[in-house]
Amino acid sequence: MADVKYVFVTGGVTSSLGKGIISASLAKLLQARGYSVTIQKLDPYINVDPGTLNPYEHGECYVTLDGAETDLDLGHYERFLNVPTSQANNVTTGRIYQTVIEKERKGDYLGKTVQIIPHITDEIKRRIKLVGSGNIFNIVITEIGGTVGDMESLPYIESVRQLKWEMGSQNCIVIHLTLVPYLSASGELKTKPTQHSVKVLLENGIQPDILVLRTEKNLTEDIKKKVALFCNVEENAVVESVDVSTIYEVPLKMLKEKLDQTVLRKLVLPVLKEPPLTEWREFLTKLKNPKHSIRIGLVGKYVELPDAYKSISESFIHSGAMNECEVNVEYIHSEDVTDENVNMLLKDLKGVVVAPGFGSRGIEGKIITAKYARENNLPFLGICLGMQCAVIEFARDVLHFEGAHSSEIDHKTKYPVIDLMEEQKSIIDKGGTMRLGGYKCVISKNSRTYKIYGKTQIIERHRHRYEFNNRYYDDFKRNGMIPVGINPESKLVEIVEIPSHKWFIGVQFHPEYSSTVINPHPLFVSFIKACIN
Ligand code: GLN
Repeated sequence: MADVKYVFVTGGVTSSLGKGIISASLAKLLQARGYSVTIQKLDPYINVDPGTLNPYEHGECYVTLDGAETDLDLGHYERFLNVPTSQANNVTTGRIYQTVIEKERKGDYLGKTVQIIPHITDEIKRRIKLVGSGNIFNIVITEIGGTVGDMESLPYIESVRQLKWEMGSQNCIVIHLTLVPYLSASGELKTKPTQHSVKVLLENGIQPDILVLRTEKNLTEDIKKKVALFCNVEENAVVESVDVSTIYEVPLKMLKEKLDQTVLRKLVLPVLKEPPLTEWREFLTKLKNPKHSIRIGLVGKYVELPDAYKSISESFIHSGAMNECEVNVEYIHSEDVTDENVNMLLKDLKGVVVAPGFGSRGIEGKIITAKYARENNLPFLGICLGMQCAVIEFARDVLHFEGAHSSEIDHKTKYPVIDLMEEQKSIIDKGGTMRLGGYKCVISKNSRTYKIYGKTQIIERHRHRYEFNNRYYDDFKRNGMIPVGINPESKLVEIVEIPSHKWFIGVQFHPEYSSTVINPHPLFVSFIKACIN
């Protein structure tokens, strides 16, 4: 463990300052300097994982290759680093308590009173060190969710204090992210909230090593000096994080601010060579200088909160840049779509995506969207529930299966074209019981999807219970909606396409989870290309 160094990222003053983006940007820079880095997120809520959380509460649930349902920040980590994360990269208070209580029930604490200190803090520390074990990483960046001073984060802050004491300041540092608000009435940037926030950390026994100050206006040297003096940090350890137009610019800003060099210096690690970040810069150039501009629709039921579709909207940024195209996503509420207004809603769009989701709310709007796209040769990408809606629509309108549905929505339907797998039928628990994570899929050579991926064997991430019902396989195939991607073990249908259509593909999995800046997902790239033409 001695070789692994730890960087903790805490936040103060307010939430949503972008700790996840700062962590991911720092990781990117350290990675570009030749270090092997991973990022972990500690979430102070009591849910065991975010899988059972309504997206309105906490945004999208991100799924890792190993099937963990995690915080959406892990999506940023993967999109920036282009390295997969895993279950160990996201820990919640619920999971910590679950482990401790299970141990207590087994009698592992030998009659001791089980307490927050040391038992909960020890479990937190174990989880942090676990990520660093296994000789894979040189540096582990651990982001503590929430804001210092919250009751929920206290055990985490205490664990960080202990780790810093145990490992020593050369092996473990703390970056604290705060806000420097601008008061337009007086035309001033204010440092007091930062000073207060650092005081709270100090009360909890932690002296931050580096401060990252989020601000809408550039900070003067005087402000940095003042913060350094009052917060007891070195002047060059006060880093400005000014608002930028895209999150993908933050690594370059942090490079300019020398955040990575300061971190390496404090951890007594060689600074190595200045990272050229060539691919990253190329991506940004394309992103900022598009040759085309299109509007596409995203039909879903959580559209009031765009964070609910974070990975999808980021995938459009990656694939748009690759196509030198600005992609404007119009969020359309599936409950608003009717037979009467669908033409008006979609006619000016270049393509449409029907989003994943659960339950019956807004489902008919999604089915109507799929019908409109099919009949009007509008490029269509159906993701998970979106694919299921396309299948239902095709069954009703083309196969004339009246009342066809998914048994998730209508369990009495005569035509359950989307149905539960036998193994799933006896499961009652809601948490962690879906088909989750990476599964293989074999693509038929004679398909558009094959041309898109350029290979027959793929692995894609899943998060669903219901499946294409193979009882109707031949009906679909004979009538022009072709199952072109099949899981080799279970024979479950993973991809359908309509070859006679300009671009109509439904996928049972979530391609959006694996799109990154350096590797935009081929399905999104091809979809955008079709929308441009
Ligand atoms: N509700 C559907 C199922 O469970 C689809 C889930 C999703 O879109 N992620 O199969």
